[in-house]
Amino acid sequence: MVYHEHRARFRVSQSVGGAGGRRRERTPRSGRWMSERNMRRDEGNVLAMGLIVFLVLLMTACSAPGGHSSEVQGRDWASRRSEMVRGQIEARGVKDPDVLDSMRAVPRHLFVPDVYRDAAYNDSPLPIGQGQTISQPYIVALMTELLEVGEGSRVLEIGTGSGYQAAVLAEMGVEVYSIEIKTALCDSAAATLQGLGYENAHVRCGDGYGGWPEEEPFDGIIVTAAPDRIPDPLLDQLSDGARMVIPVGEFYQELKVITRTGDDFQQRSVIPVRFVPMTGEIERQRD
Ligand code: SAH
Repeated sequence: MVYHEHRARFRVSQSVGGAGGRRRERTPRSGRWMSERNMRRDEGNVLAMGLIVFLVLLMTACSAPGGHSSEVQGRDWASRRSEMVRGQIEARGVKDPDVLDSMRAVPRHLFVPDVYRDAAYNDSPLPIGQGQTISQPYIVALMTELLEVGEGSRVLEIGTGSGYQAAVLAEMGVEVYSIEIKTALCDSAAATLQGLGYENAHVRCGDGYGGWPEEEPFDGIIVTAAPDRIPDPLLDQLSDGARMVIPVGEFYQELKVITRTGDDFQQRSVIPVRFVPMTGEIERQRD
């Protein structure tokens, strides 16, 4: 403040000093007149500066609580994520540090509808519209760990949904190719991922039954909707040594890991799960 006033006076005296000096030389009266004018100008300038300082203070006062609270809220979301990772994910045995870091980093609350934002870090799946759900955080972490991929890997996801699983992989530096059959979800997931700057997450709208032939083979395939059997085209798009993580079954589903070695596919069951059904071509073939 003091500095501003000082600078203001300095500027005023500088700007009028020369002119005033010249006029004072012409008549003695003009010298007095000029000094009054200078005073008025001085007052005017000080008033103007005062007004500017007042406005700046007002703007600062108005913006401070918003900025402050959003920072506090940002810290709050981050601490909720840390708590989620510690209490729900590490506690159940997920260990891969890259997966844990990613789960701590991705803002899950931005992938759920506004009404569920506050519940985003709860230990449960949540509705995302169109009768679909975003998986429970633990299941996302477990499936990501089971893929055994990392920076630079290429992963195919079937069932983009909200885009959250794709973001968790993208955050780890994985190149993600994700397919979603429901156009509304596909569009909003693509927008969310783009908004968050995940340029390594590519979303395609359509039936994921046939995979993404232009981009095969993949170092991992993750399916987040449950078919009643494993779609053959997806097996074909696994690279040698890669894994597919997929829930299989109808009412009763098992999370399976299929590992490809040449033309051999080893299968193991991990845990019972509950996913929305895979629709489209796989259902047509069953009927
Ligand atoms: N991974 C998602 C959750 C997926 S829910 C997330 O992180 O939010 C399962 C999704 O699979 C649903 O959005 C559903 O529309 C989609 N889906 C079902 N069958 C599909 C198919 N044949 N191809 C692509 N997506 C499919």
